[in-house]
Amino acid sequence: MRNKIVAGNWKMNKTLEEGKILASEVVNMAADEAPSDVTVIMGTPAIHMDAVGKLVKDAANVAIAAQDCSAHEAGAYTGEISVSQIKSVGAEYVILGHSERREYHNESNELLAAKVDTALAADLKPIFCCGEALETREQGDDVAYKFVCDQLTASLFHLSAEVMTNFIIAYEPIWAIGTGKTASAEQAQLMHAEIRKHIAAKYGQEVADSVSILYGGSCKPSNANEIFAGADVDGGLIGGASLASRDFIDIVKSF
Ligand code: PEP
Repeated sequence: MRNKIVAGNWKMNKTLEEGKILASEVVNMAADEAPSDVTVIMGTPAIHMDAVGKLVKDAANVAIAAQDCSAHEAGAYTGEISVSQIKSVGAEYVILGHSERREYHNESNELLAAKVDTALAADLKPIFCCGEALETREQGDDVAYKFVCDQLTASLFHLSAEVMTNFIIAYEPIWAIGTGKTASAEQAQLMHAEIRKHIAAKYGQEVADSVSILYGGSCKPSNANEIFAGADVDGGLIGGASLASRDFIDIVKSF
């Protein structure tokens, strides 16, 4: 049985007070309404993690994620946030390789491999993002599959089968992020199946079947149900719709 996960990515949104209100609402609604087999994660701005961490501390099904971490453990890296700092405020997860980090901060597959290692060494669970740009998708589905699988090979395939077991990957086509243009449920399922096949070729079917593959890109209450119905879709990474508690929890209920 794979873990079902719905993770919000607040990005650079919400003041501290607004974030605390949103997090409290999510915790309360998740307690009343979330299916018991779904893990709900909020990827908050780093500056909110301590306060939100306290709000989710006693929630059985809600956890928090950082949106990035440094590849270094500690030291003279102004503005960066270390894995031990993230752990110290109660976060269990870290989103790595989001396309906005890849694009605006030039994060390469190699740097992301190092970040994955640093996170895992601190017992922080990566939510590893991959996805192709529109120009790549327009070259054909097979080109897109290869591009995404190459990202995974470059950043993850040095890991052992044990570490890869229960790993979390988020497939986020860049052309669908924040654009309102969702991949169709079929497009999402086909890519997720390719990702799982690629993992199986390296690690075997049992490991591949344990990996949770989330879909991200303009996912909302109106389309989550159809997307999550895909046999290889194990949940979502949600940007815009995670900023409103009702929408976010309605997505959580969409399995
Ligand atoms: C994201 O950035 O991870 C994302 C999926 O954003 P949105 O849901 O707003 O497209």
